[in-house]
Amino acid sequence: MGVRTGKELFADLEARINKYNETNKDLGGKASVQRFNNSEGKHDHPLILAICTPLMSRVHKHIQQAGELVFIDSSSSFDDYNNPMFVISTSSAAGGLPLGVVVTSGESTSIINSAMTHLKYLFPTYSFYRKGSPGNIITDDSQAERSGLKKTWPSASLYLCVFHFLQTMWRWLLHSSNEIQSQHRQHLMLLIRNMVYAKTEYILNNKYKDLKQDLISKQYINFNEHVNTYWERRQEWAICYRDNTSTRGINTNNYAEAGIRILKDIVFQRIKAYNLVQIFEFITVTFEMYYERRLLSVAYNRMDRYISLRHKGLGAYQVNNTDITKHDRNNLLYLVKSNHSDREYIIDTENWTCTCSVGITGFPTGEPCKHQRAVVNKYKLTSPHLIPFLMQEADICML
Ligand SMILES: [Zn+2]
Repeated sequence: MGVRTGKELFADLEARINKYNETNKDLGGKASVQRFNNSEGKHDHPLILAICTPLMSRVHKHIQQAGELVFIDSSSSFDDYNNPMFVISTSSAAGGLPLGVVVTSGESTSIINSAMTHLKYLFPTYSFYRKGSPGNIITDDSQAERSGLKKTWPSASLYLCVFHFLQTMWRWLLHSSNEIQSQHRQHLMLLIRNMVYAKTEYILNNKYKDLKQDLISKQYINFNEHVNTYWERRQEWAICYRDNTSTRGINTNNYAEAGIRILKDIVFQRIKAYNLVQIFEFITVTFEMYYERRLLSVAYNRMDRYISLRHKGLGAYQVNNTDITKHDRNNLLYLVKSNHSDREYIIDTENWTCTCSVGITGFPTGEPCKHQRAVVNKYKLTSPHLIPFLMQEADICML
């Protein structure tokens, strides 16, 4: 692909971006590049390559979750200079979907802020499901990245990915310099998990007290000190502080990681040393095509097992049609009677929530509850969290 570095490469990239913007302007596809400039020894003019493809634009517009919860993950192994690449994604009934990609030349707070700001200006006017900002962001534990994101989207709540948080804790317990005896590690880990998954702040405080009074935990001053530093940041990792109505019980950024994996394995095919022009082509052509095909395969009912298990609404058949009734005149609220008790659950079909425990907590993996599917089936509605499909008698027998 011709020139690899220097001014010619940037000129080539700028020409391609101009052409791309011209061709895609009615489809919501847009990109921009800022050349790296360190001439006065300042680092305030980093390299920024920001991309929002037509598909990403459509995800902003049509996917409700884009306004509720996004995931940001980074990787730094695509190009010759190891410039970090950030992928913003959201969850959907068809798995994780991208909202924007940005490549930049550093990971400081100010660089992340300007890279994300460039991306923000590329986004369509209806970005984040017309909210202009994501409600919640799940990230890795990088203070600089988190501060940069907070500057860009001040109204968003930032949370740590629970999976990564637990992994970091487990690594700490395993590290030989911390001298935790191997037979104690699982037990100490359980004490931490109990805090992370505590359902209320009251339970969390009690679990913290349990940890402090635990006989094994008391043997390790360093463990207690380590926990104390994280205790001060508990709003970031304890799930009781999360607004479950908008995070829908999703507490990890596995969706974003999947996006990064797709980039590495499929789009870049695990080969390194690309230049920026090649990266631009891969994101706008191959990455875009991958997601288009994936969405089509869901539309054609050729989805992978994971998606079909989560979003085809297994269990909805257990709800009797006669137990579902309309609750208001606007056809927004529905009532479903419980099979097991005389409770009734309220399903809000504007925001797609349900008052049952699965609907509130998304337990165990953030899937929509059976009541939502049952309402969808009975009244022939569509929900952004459920894949529409025709339910034949034969399907019902197989469930
Ligand atoms: Zn429910």
